[in-house]
Amino acid sequence: MTTDTSTNVRNVIIIGSGPAGLTAAIYTARASLAPLVIEGEPSSTSDQPGGQLMLTTEVENFPGFPEGIMGPELMMKFREQAGRFGAEFLTAKATAIDFSERPFKVWVRDELYLADSIIVSTGAQSLMLGLEKEPLLLGHGLSTCATCDGFFFRGQEIAVVGGGDSAVEEATFLTKFASKVYLIHRRDSLRASKIMQERALNHPKIEMVWNTAVDDLIGEHKLEGAVLRNTVTGETSTLPVTGLFVAIGHRPNTDLFTGVLDMEDSGYLVTKPGSSYTNVDGVFACGDVQDHTYRQAITAAGSGCMAAIDAERWLEAQHG
Ligand code: NAP
Repeated sequence: MTTDTSTNVRNVIIIGSGPAGLTAAIYTARASLAPLVIEGEPSSTSDQPGGQLMLTTEVENFPGFPEGIMGPELMMKFREQAGRFGAEFLTAKATAIDFSERPFKVWVRDELYLADSIIVSTGAQSLMLGLEKEPLLLGHGLSTCATCDGFFFRGQEIAVVGGGDSAVEEATFLTKFASKVYLIHRRDSLRASKIMQERALNHPKIEMVWNTAVDDLIGEHKLEGAVLRNTVTGETSTLPVTGLFVAIGHRPNTDLFTGVLDMEDSGYLVTKPGSSYTNVDGVFACGDVQDHTYRQAITAAGSGCMAAIDAERWLEAQHG
């Protein structure tokens, strides 16, 4: 780590550029705060500029787009809008921080950036199965979000992988659209809460596939099925489904802030209720990095707006 002699202290640095970070950028830019957005690295699957929407295809539930819009195109529009008002972008990943005194320090490799306030919007990532075809088929039958994509599977046979509350909740939700939902779990008992388990286990459209791992995905441009392996007998089989929802948990991108910002045991940042304030005065958090409940582009964008307004008011109070 080197120390920059630069005296260029920015009003605000935004770390992360999904719907939350870019909305914060639009608002802080329009408030003449000239934000610097450290937007992430294109090659990365967890810190890519634009966030998780870059890994989706069509988005039909973002208000204002009655015909739907592709995830990457939506994020490009967010970015363009922020740029129009003077937001500056750095296409790189923040590699270290020091929030122990002001101005706050953010390093991108050996470059140091200083700011009076920080907005953290580094998002979260869905845990994936680690199969070779996952990147190829994500958004083409493979999904990590039932709320977002369930609608595309009306009348089809699909599967959900996982055994926790997310998997059971998604399987139950997906019965509204699908003709049949296989719930594939690697063990013989669910981790999900009893009441949610019962709802799924008694649902006529849900079929449990116990003691089963997904070993491979079938299909080149569109998912056509999954190769399953019984974890007890080792026997393999194929399941012809047009949709597969991976619901094995999420991980917030908070490694950078360990020991500095208050986190829940699961790693999500803690914000003061009804605000974007973290435990460090002048550091704000928004989007999926602090929300494991809603995880929607529109809620992330809303919380990005909150963070921008909180930062703007906080800066104003500091400068008298
Ligand atoms: P979770 O509780 O960690 O469950 C993850 C599930 O995925 C587990 O059943 C696990 O299997 C399975 N799994 C993990 N890695 C896997 C892999 N590589 N291959 C196959 N299966 C794998 O995650 P979650 O369901 O997302 O829930 C996260 C938290 O949010 C929990 O505290 C949950 O209660 C909460 N939540 C609550 C609600 C609600 O109340 N409405 C809804 C969603 C989530 P094992 O069981 O074998 O470990």
